[in-house]
Amino acid sequence: MTTLQQIDLQCPICENRFRSQAVVSTNSFGGKRTDFHERAAGTQPLPYLIHTCSRCGYSGSERDFTEDADVSPVLKERVWNELAPAIATGPVSGSEKYEAAAKVADWQGLEPRHVADLLLRAAWCCVDEGDIEAERFFRRKAAWKFDEALQSFDGVARDERAVLTYLVGELWRRVGDAKLAAEWFNRVASEVVDAHTQQWVIDAARQQRDCPREWFG
Ligand SMILES: [Zn+2]
Repeated sequence: MTTLQQIDLQCPICENRFRSQAVVSTNSFGGKRTDFHERAAGTQPLPYLIHTCSRCGYSGSERDFTEDADVSPVLKERVWNELAPAIATGPVSGSEKYEAAAKVADWQGLEPRHVADLLLRAAWCCVDEGDIEAERFFRRKAAWKFDEALQSFDGVARDERAVLTYLVGELWRRVGDAKLAAEWFNRVASEVVDAHTQQWVIDAARQQRDCPREWFG
């Protein structure tokens, strides 16, 4: 189960002080989907790992609301111009938080790999929110961003390339594009650097191409 607690945050963009719920602990994972989406018993922790300022829409992890946050004048301007006008009056959903956090990370010039992870988490939140259309939208965006990371020099560590190549295939499969998914799954073996520890990735890619499953194990 997931334990939450109230935390006090101050927005580094607009100075707004607000309360947010954060994860204290989480365990009892009920399993892992074949896109690595882990499930907790009861409340899912994901929406509470990202916080959104209720005034300007700036979003990120708890660390992004400390003095360590990388806040430039350009970032401030983009938050005010693009996130603030879209602020809803009610509670912000997990996928909305991750979408905003992905934009902030992109504007901060963070690695495509990092932005892709946030977009993938937005898709995972959509699964719990029961929004299939938005889930596909974020899976597509995550796949493109992981692709960008794989193409950039040093964007992905050598020993992580095979598993991310598999993940892009799995994202396209879950979007419904079996042909594109197969192209990515077929590329996995050539990205493997250690056949001993990474055989499972080759096996997973073959399985998801030929006889797909929704859960590992
Ligand atoms: Zn703010």
